[in-house]
Amino acid sequence: MLRLAELKLPLDHTEEELTQAVLRRLKIPPDQLLEQRLVKRSIDARRRDRIQLIYSVDVLVRHEQALMKRRRPGLPLKQAPDTRYRMVAQAPPGLEARPVVVGAGPCGYFAALLLAQMGFKPLLLERGQPVKQRTQQTFAFWRGQQALDPESNAQFGEGGAGTFSDGKLYSQVSDPEHYGRKVLKELVACGANAEILTVHRPHIGTFKLATVVRGLRSRIEALGGEVRFGCRVDRLLLEPSGGEKPFSLKALLLADGQQLPCRHLVLAPGHSARDCFAMLDQVGVQLERKPFSVGVRIEHPQPLIDQARWGAMAGHPRLGAAEYKLVHHASNGRCVYSFCMCPGGFVVGATSEEGRVVTNGMSQHSRNERNANSGLVVTLEPEDLQPYERHPGDPLAGIALQRDLEQRAFRSGGGTYAAPAQRLEDFLAGCPSTTLGTIAASYQPGITPTDLAPVLPEPILNALREALPQFARRLRGYDHPDAVLTAVETRTSSPVRIPRDGQLESLNTRGLIPAGEGAGYAGGILSAGIDGIRAAEAMAAQLLAASSKS
Ligand code: FAD
Repeated sequence: MLRLAELKLPLDHTEEELTQAVLRRLKIPPDQLLEQRLVKRSIDARRRDRIQLIYSVDVLVRHEQALMKRRRPGLPLKQAPDTRYRMVAQAPPGLEARPVVVGAGPCGYFAALLLAQMGFKPLLLERGQPVKQRTQQTFAFWRGQQALDPESNAQFGEGGAGTFSDGKLYSQVSDPEHYGRKVLKELVACGANAEILTVHRPHIGTFKLATVVRGLRSRIEALGGEVRFGCRVDRLLLEPSGGEKPFSLKALLLADGQQLPCRHLVLAPGHSARDCFAMLDQVGVQLERKPFSVGVRIEHPQPLIDQARWGAMAGHPRLGAAEYKLVHHASNGRCVYSFCMCPGGFVVGATSEEGRVVTNGMSQHSRNERNANSGLVVTLEPEDLQPYERHPGDPLAGIALQRDLEQRAFRSGGGTYAAPAQRLEDFLAGCPSTTLGTIAASYQPGITPTDLAPVLPEPILNALREALPQFARRLRGYDHPDAVLTAVETRTSSPVRIPRDGQLESLNTRGLIPAGEGAGYAGGILSAGIDGIRAAEAMAAQLLAASSKS
């Protein structure tokens, strides 16, 4: 098949007009076009008075070679890439070693699914509860009806951190093997809408995501894998390896005291498994710091964002709720950027620890709630971490900083898990808010109007104050005086990396494959799924090498 890109059509075009555009571009009569498959649809809104849809399509044509030979220079037509996934290994019959995967987030689930598809029958351990129970617990916490469960919440439990989210499924990671396609196809096979395969910036929405997650579990189990919930790994038991690496994985100590023999582990605990990072540091697994950002979540009325992005076309059904992406390089050297923007959604309480407040965002598939929300976060510098170091270069300093800010947010919100919030105008003026204005905050379990200055370090506040008016130059109305800022946005990515070698194994521990966002190799659902596939392939190679030695 051939791939034809950059087909521009007006918003209100018909299916037939798309086909006509293909024929015109290729300069072929209709009977030479045998098949046409949509690959991608994106929106070009650079000119608000002429918003267009841009398509890539795969076409099967008669006389393909002749067409390629006579195509005019510059025509974006090439052979369609082969994006099919091919298994890299097959478990030999009678293989005794069973791989263990820790974490039922997108990374752990895709690692387990791929291992199961290769016949390795993985055992997946997850500290939190199955998605149905976890949803009930988390929503009850948000409604103030139930205490926070530190083991099963917005961060922990089946589906991982992004289960209650917008379910955005795009990523900027390089993916030459097209593993992202495999992830999306598996999600569709588990119940996601097939449109995620063709839309430029796909999203699932939170309720669909929960169904999809259950589907992933069923597929793993049907292939002989096993998933255990409420099963926290408390310690990696290591032994001297005698080889190039000082340690070798021997077993896992579970929270119920059981010791599980384990020589091959994919560890995908997510960025919020702080106890897990502390344990790894203690037992001697090599860790390092990773840059991350902190800030606030901002809310505007969705129609304000739609108007700013789409102008007169706002509300057009083919456009949906508008997203945005903003970046500002502040004069104090910090970078301020929008993060995890959720059109038509809610701000949610995303803490996994008692006595701390963390914000994040979530939407349903329809994205039709009244507010748009986004993280507005600022890069941290080494000097921000210094006060939190136990020793120079302490890999856990970022976690100590996150905890401090989250505790400050808890206190500023009144100590009830309400989030501290401030009107944008008050924030810029440096005076506390005593009430909100025309824009209602969506955060559950509630907000406390106050001053955000005590929550965030000075350089972060200064960078945010500088960026907001700049963002309004790009998105009209962004500096609406009543826009609501809620704090604190700390779980943007992992503050720690568990470095790994070319075989994706820990640099100093044999048998351990750290993976996903917590290990510092992903940032988002799709990239975590992709890393899960890579981890599964590396694990398969490890298992086959071990079985050929024994
Ligand atoms: P996680 O998803 O964090 O999964 C790790 C799992 O490991 C957890 O379930 C945890 O319970 C388990 N675990 C941890 N420690 C242990 C242990 N010791 N023993 C056993 N199990 C353990 N990303 C997007 O791309 N799009 C979005 O729209 C989006 N929205 C988000 C909204 C919210 C509210 C949040 C919190 C995150 C959002 N993200 C989004 C980020 C995304 O969820 C993460 O990037 C992704 O989930 C990382 O995947 P992971 O598998 O590496 O880790």
